[in-house]
Amino acid sequence: KRQVQDELLHEARISRDLVEVALRAPDATIADALADRLADSLDARVSIVGADGRWLGDSALGPEELVARSGASQVTQPEIRQALADGIGRAHRVSAMTHADALFVAVPFEAAGGGVVRVATPLAEIDQAVTGLRMLLAVAGLIGLGVAVFMSVLASELASRAVRRLADGARRMVHRQDARTSRLQVPSRDEIGGLAGSFNRVLDELDRTLATLTHERDQVETILDGMEEGVLALDGSQRIVRANRAARVLFGVATIRPGVPLVEVTRVPELLEQVRCVGEAEPRSVAFELPGPRHILAHIAPLRTTGGCVVVLHDVTELVRLEQVRRDLVANLSHEVRTPVAVIRANAETLLHGGLEDPEHGRLFVDAIFRNSERLSRLTSELLDLARIESGRRELSPSTLRLGEMFTQVHDALATLAAERGVDVELDAPDDLTVQADRGAIEEVLGNLLENALKYAASGGRVVLRARSVDERWVRVEVEDAGPGIPERHRGRLFERFYRVDDGRSREAGGTGLGLAIVKHLVVAHGGTVGVEAVQPTGARFWFTLPRAREGEPERGS
Ligand code: ADP
Repeated sequence: KRQVQDELLHEARISRDLVEVALRAPDATIADALADRLADSLDARVSIVGADGRWLGDSALGPEELVARSGASQVTQPEIRQALADGIGRAHRVSAMTHADALFVAVPFEAAGGGVVRVATPLAEIDQAVTGLRMLLAVAGLIGLGVAVFMSVLASELASRAVRRLADGARRMVHRQDARTSRLQVPSRDEIGGLAGSFNRVLDELDRTLATLTHERDQVETILDGMEEGVLALDGSQRIVRANRAARVLFGVATIRPGVPLVEVTRVPELLEQVRCVGEAEPRSVAFELPGPRHILAHIAPLRTTGGCVVVLHDVTELVRLEQVRRDLVANLSHEVRTPVAVIRANAETLLHGGLEDPEHGRLFVDAIFRNSERLSRLTSELLDLARIESGRRELSPSTLRLGEMFTQVHDALATLAAERGVDVELDAPDDLTVQADRGAIEEVLGNLLENALKYAASGGRVVLRARSVDERWVRVEVEDAGPGIPERHRGRLFERFYRVDDGRSREAGGTGLGLAIVKHLVVAHGGTVGVEAVQPTGARFWFTLPRAREGEPERGS
């Protein structure tokens, strides 16, 4: 309304200026025509009223009505009065003439004795325009709102679809269904696309880290499984977190499920006790035995971070055995040496204290010294021999040997003993049976066994040296006598050094207890095996195997 009024004012002023110019002319009737023309071009009602209240022109009045009004001598319209008084008059009222609600704006002019130009416009038109405009605005607003709602729904749908995809993808990754290869596929270039990109990069990084960790874990596992020592990692409540291959072998289980309590795998009280109180203490060691028997030395190192510990299990069975062997050897040696040394010493002492002067007995003393020193020298040389074979320093040079020939040779060497004992020796070997072996070694083996057999065979009895081929690779040689034989319980240990069935008798017979040990070592050095079995009704059969000579191998003479 205000704007319309301002416009009307503007129009009124223009009209006034025109009226000013027009009314300078002597003919006052021009005013009505002017009002009509102005109203036409302004599309408003234009009235020109003199200062004395006479109507000079009005676009809405015909000439007669104008004449009727021109007689008026009083100004009734408020806007005209206000214009005359203040320079500008405004009014919003119902027009007395058109009976329509209208806006009036009037401005005074001075020409032709002064007056007022009034411009009026019916409000109905404006209202209509405003209503139209409002409708238009409302419709436009509604359309705009609709479009906005649609767009925002669309945008949020697009965005939420991307977010859903992101979430779905992320969920899939969390469940690790195909996490190694899959990546989030969000093609948009917006923030969500960026987020997916970052997510994928994080995944790449995660994959790389995982690969490194897996590699490292595999490496650790390989190292652990390659270790000779058993390794157990336990948590704070003595559950096994990890066990390597050696540990599983030691405990005799095929698998150890992670999380299994140690007590379910082994019931060794020493170990369980040490592991239980590990929380408070320094690393420690504990020795115990596992079935087998295996001697185990366990080192237990606490892990402060987890409250658990790492147990390293060393199988020291072999060490313990070697230690025992060493101890036995020292004991046996001292035992073996003590008697001859004591005899030598006693006899030498007797000789010193007058024995020398007694030629008859003196000879006996010297003889005793001689026999015992011989025994000592035999003992030391056999021990050295054994040590040389054991350490591999005694070199064997295998050649093709005819066994029949070897039997004869050994028999000849011991013929005197056989005759002394009144024992008949039978040699039984196929003519063409040959072995691949070291001549000196086989002589020693056969000599030892035959000597034993002759020593233990009943006087007037018989000893058999026999050779047979087992298959195309092996030959079995036997030395059989009809002596007292070897009781079953001794057979297992008979080939150990210094092991004797009958201590006194064997020593009396001049034995060192090393003969069979040397036999065993020499045979084993050839790749063969040795053993002893009983002969019915009485007697012992010592046997050993040797590799057969290869076909086409030239025989070597002695
Ligand atoms: P030694 O040199 O004392 O004979 P060996 O190692 O040759 O030692 O023999 C070990 C033991 O085996 C002997 O002390 C003896 O008790 C027993 N032994 C060996 N050969 C025979 C056999 N043919 N008959 C019975 N016992 C034997």
